[in-house]
Amino acid sequence: MEILLVDALAAGGGTRRSALDVIGAGPRTIAGIFERNNVPYRIVRVEDVLRKPPREEVVMVSAMTMDYGAAKRVSRLFRSSFKVLGGPITCDPSVVSRLGYELGVFGEGEEAVNSLIKLGLREAKIRDLKEIPNLIIVERGRIHLTSRKVLSKRDFNRYAPSFRAVLHYKSIPHYRSSRVYVEVVRGCSNFNRALILANRRICAGCRACFGEDLEARLVCPQGIPPGCGYCSIPAVYGYPKSRDLDILIEEIKGLIKCGVRRIVLSGADFLEYGRDELASPLTHPSKPEPNLRAIGELLSRVTSLPKVRKGKVYVGIENAKASLLTEEVISLIADHLPGAVVHVGIETGDDVHAKLLGRPSPPSKDVERIKSAIKAGLRVYAYFIHGLPGQTIKTAEKTVSMMEKLYLIGVEKVTVYRFKPLPCSAFERMPEGPPASKDPASRIIERAARKFNLERKRELLGKVLEVVLAPGRRGKFKVAYPFREGPTVLVKGVPRNLRVGDVFSARIESVVSDRLVIGKFTRL
Ligand code: SF4
Repeated sequence: MEILLVDALAAGGGTRRSALDVIGAGPRTIAGIFERNNVPYRIVRVEDVLRKPPREEVVMVSAMTMDYGAAKRVSRLFRSSFKVLGGPITCDPSVVSRLGYELGVFGEGEEAVNSLIKLGLREAKIRDLKEIPNLIIVERGRIHLTSRKVLSKRDFNRYAPSFRAVLHYKSIPHYRSSRVYVEVVRGCSNFNRALILANRRICAGCRACFGEDLEARLVCPQGIPPGCGYCSIPAVYGYPKSRDLDILIEEIKGLIKCGVRRIVLSGADFLEYGRDELASPLTHPSKPEPNLRAIGELLSRVTSLPKVRKGKVYVGIENAKASLLTEEVISLIADHLPGAVVHVGIETGDDVHAKLLGRPSPPSKDVERIKSAIKAGLRVYAYFIHGLPGQTIKTAEKTVSMMEKLYLIGVEKVTVYRFKPLPCSAFERMPEGPPASKDPASRIIERAARKFNLERKRELLGKVLEVVLAPGRRGKFKVAYPFREGPTVLVKGVPRNLRVGDVFSARIESVVSDRLVIGKFTRL
């Protein structure tokens, strides 16, 4: 019996509209468990499943909260199959029964999936299932969440992700042209609380959020979940735990051997890598500072791999908290990965608002650290959210002026999301942010971001970019992505004999939007 593993991550209602060159780490992690247990499986993108549904007895779906529509459509297509739902979408366990799945996996899925396989999946008895942690069982329409468990570092490292699983991605995204994410660390050390929800009198007697007592920072007497108010990572995955270096290197070597050309070292924060060796429980977002030895060793082993050393494989870093972006770690990264993109979340431009949200550092300081990173030769993409609780026209104006500063210091791109309350986060009961078109504060933030990105795209005109050929075309144009990250490029004049994953140069000739440019093939 083959298991169909449906990757619905970021598919929304069933079709991904952005980040079409991203292969996440979650499905490969689950595939690693199938391989260990000699269970045949197939990973299929949700778009392909919806277009041409295969017949499978067991279907597992990996989805985020935003992918409710896609998960629902898959459930309807496979009415008589045994269906399991996993990924961040199950932070609200009730979705499992609402969407018609037999079982759900809550939070970290490794142990639950491993135990399920050992029990024979659909053959498993309810009384045995109840012994498995992090499982959402549906019994006569009612859901039952078994014990909640956050994996220890040792258990986390018992489940190495499969690298062979990447070969299943042969449509969009395609493994030869996509950014393949490698999870180097899981969890987050920001155990601040969203003070906007707190009773200040109780805080005055507690002060845990303002101090460095790591044990005290674990639990809030007011029951506010840890972390930035809009994020569920510390509440669901706990404080950081790093992947063993040897496991990571084997995974990266395997991916490269399979033909992967672009690798992103990822986690809620790459800079947490190895910090869990320096303090425990790691519940402070800036103390201790990054583990330079661990990060240095990781980067030096990755960049010594022959194809990385020769520039045939690109390595980038996704997500860094500005609170950990010290001068020392900046120069370490710049030495090993000159010109790599680092993604930094800022979310609001107002220091007071940031504190109320539970942010790890004030944005006025974040700018200084980003400036140092750019000075050292790194490229920075910054992230914001509009419609957050506490947003006012004043905070929005500060966010706009922050974006202007970031433009001047050389940040390459800003991305703005609309606030959506995530289950398990402190803001789970807050109303969704209004559409930018309906709210003056959100509107000025979104407009500023659009202007920023459009200006940056115009600066590309006439430049020659190294791009990687992706599947798909639009009329006479072929789709390509900058090898070292950047906007989608529609290229004309691509020779017919080029294959997906081939790298070539394209001269940028026009700008279609703040996300899309047009180029002309120049040379291989
Ligand atoms: S842990 Fe809770 S009570 Fe203590 S300072 Fe933080 S928000 Fe206030």
